[in-house]
Amino acid sequence: MRYRILILFVFLISSSAILARSAPALPTQQLAANVVSYRMDVRLDPVSKTIVGTERLTYTNPSPDTLGEIWLRLYLRAFRDTNTVWMREYGRWNGTTLPSEYVGDITVSSLTLANGIDLLASATLTDTLMRVPLPQPLLPGQSLELDVGWVSKLPHVFARTGYGGRNNTFFMVGQWYPKMAVYDRGRWDTEPWHSNAEFFNDFGTYDVRVTVPSAYVVAGAGVPAGAVANADGTQTLRFTADDVTDFAFATTPDFQTRVITSGGVEIALYYLPEHAAAADEYLAVAAEALQLYGSWYGAYPHPRLTIVDVPDDAQAAGGMEYPTLVTSEVGSVGSNYSFLAYVTAHEIGHQWWPMQTATNEAAEPWLDEGLTEYTSSRYLADATHGWGTDRVVAFEQSLYASGAGLPATLPAWQYMNGAYVVVYSKTALGLWTLEGVVGTNRLRHAMADYLTQYRFKHPNGADFRAALEHELGDLGWLFDDYLSSSGVIDYAVTPIEQTNVASIVRVARKGAVRVPVDILVTFKSGAQQLQTWDGQATSLELNFSRSNPVVLAQVDPSRKLKAELSRLDNQVGTWQMRLPIAAR
Ligand SMILES: [Zn+2]
Repeated sequence: MRYRILILFVFLISSSAILARSAPALPTQQLAANVVSYRMDVRLDPVSKTIVGTERLTYTNPSPDTLGEIWLRLYLRAFRDTNTVWMREYGRWNGTTLPSEYVGDITVSSLTLANGIDLLASATLTDTLMRVPLPQPLLPGQSLELDVGWVSKLPHVFARTGYGGRNNTFFMVGQWYPKMAVYDRGRWDTEPWHSNAEFFNDFGTYDVRVTVPSAYVVAGAGVPAGAVANADGTQTLRFTADDVTDFAFATTPDFQTRVITSGGVEIALYYLPEHAAAADEYLAVAAEALQLYGSWYGAYPHPRLTIVDVPDDAQAAGGMEYPTLVTSEVGSVGSNYSFLAYVTAHEIGHQWWPMQTATNEAAEPWLDEGLTEYTSSRYLADATHGWGTDRVVAFEQSLYASGAGLPATLPAWQYMNGAYVVVYSKTALGLWTLEGVVGTNRLRHAMADYLTQYRFKHPNGADFRAALEHELGDLGWLFDDYLSSSGVIDYAVTPIEQTNVASIVRVARKGAVRVPVDILVTFKSGAQQLQTWDGQATSLELNFSRSNPVVLAQVDPSRKLKAELSRLDNQVGTWQMRLPIAAR
C-alpha cells in the first residue's frame, strides 16, 4: 500500500464506522486459478500521458450460478473529477476543481463479444465500474471472450499511478486497464474504488505487449518475453505472467537495471541514477525477504520479481505492490532505520498476502495489509538488513497506539485516513503475540498451511481463523477479544503482600483480551517458578510460603505479548530495597 499515507497522518475513525460491521460470511467458494486471462496490446504516449489499448479478455464463470451480466472495473475513473467516491474520501480537493494535471480517466471505446456482438450500447457506468448485460447468460464453467478497446489518461502521480520525475518522463502504470470484477460467494463485487482500499481480483494469465518510445526502459510485471524495434521510433516489449491477479509496469528513459538470481528467482531492479548508491541494499533486502518468507510460508511461486525505484518527486508511486512487481523508494525514518528496507520488505510480503491468497482487500484489509505487516515486521526483526526486534516493535506499537481502541477487521473505507494504520500495526502485533504464545514454528506452520489450503483462491477472515484454529486450538482471545473489538492486552502485578505465613502475588487482567500469559516468580533463595495463566478471570492470586518469600513477580517476563502497550506495571519486587540510596 501507499506508505506515506500510513506514516504521516494519524486521524481518528468516526464512531459510526465502528458500529457498522461487515456482512456475515457466506460459504467459501473454491475458485480455480485461471478465471480470467488478458491478451493486451497497449501504446504509451509520454507526451499526452495517455495509453491506447486493446485487450482480448477471456472469463470463465467460476461459480455454480448462471450470470446474466458481468462487471468491469475502470479504476482511473476515480480521478476524473472531485465527485467520485475515491476523491470525496481522499478529501484533498474538497470543494475545489481538480487541477487538470491530476485528472485521470479511462474511456472504453469498444466492447464486443469475440463474435462481434456489441455490448457497449447497453453497458452502464457507475463511479469506477461498468455493468455489462449479456445477450446470453453465462453458465457455470462456461467462458466468454470480450474484445475491449480503450484510452487511459494518466494523472500526475499523487496516489499509486501516473507520471512524474525528471521532465515528467517517469510513468507508473497501475490500475490502468478495463479489468474484470470478481464474482464470489454468490454476488458480483461492485464496491466502488475507495481511497483507502485497494483491490480484489481473480487469478489468471497475462500476455501484454507494451509499446513505448525506443529510449524508454520498461519494468514490467511477469517475465520479459521479447522486444521488437518499430519503424516509427518505438519499441514493443512483451511480458507474460501466470497465476497472477494484475499487471502493472513502470517506464522512464532514466532506468538503470541490475539483475541477480537468488534461490532460483530472478530479482530485477530498475533504479534511477540518483539512487545508484541504494542498489545494493534494494537487492540484498529483496533476496533476503524472498528467502525468509519462502522458508516460513512456502516458496515464492514465480520465476521473477521486479523492483521499481521511484523518483523523489514521484514518491506517491512508491510503496505499492502488484503481482511479481513492487515499487519502493529511498528514504529514512531515522538515522538507524532504513526506510528502503521497511518498504521493500513490506511490499515483497504482499507477494504472499494477497498475491497468493486473493482476499478482498477492500472488505477485509487486515488479511492483506495486516498479514503483510506482520510478515515484514518479522523480517525487520530477524534479517541481516533489518532493524532488530526492539526497534520494529516500538515502531509498530507507536502506530497501534494511535488507535488502539479500534478494531483491526473493519472494511478499509470505514477507517478515516490515517487511522488505517491500525489495520497494519494491530494485526501485526496481534499475530506476533500469537507467535509468542504458541511458538514461532507452530504459527509459521499454521500460516503456511493456510496458504497451502487457499493458494490461488479467495479465502476470507473466517477461513483464516479456521485454518489457524485447526492447528493451534481456540483463538477467541485473538480474533474476538482483540482483532475484531476494541479490547487491549494489559496485565499488571500488584505489590507483593508479605504476611506472617505467606508471600502473596496478585496478577490482574486489566484489558479485555484473555490471552494466556506467563508469570515468573523469583524467591529470596534465588529459585524461580514459571507458570502460565489462561487469563480467563480478571485476577489471579498466588500464595507461597513465607519461609522463602517472593522477592520479584513478573507477568510476561520474556515479552511474548508484543501487543501489550502498558508494561510499566508488569513487575513488582522487593529488590528496590537493596539498591544504593543514590540509585533510588
Ligand atoms: Zn501494504
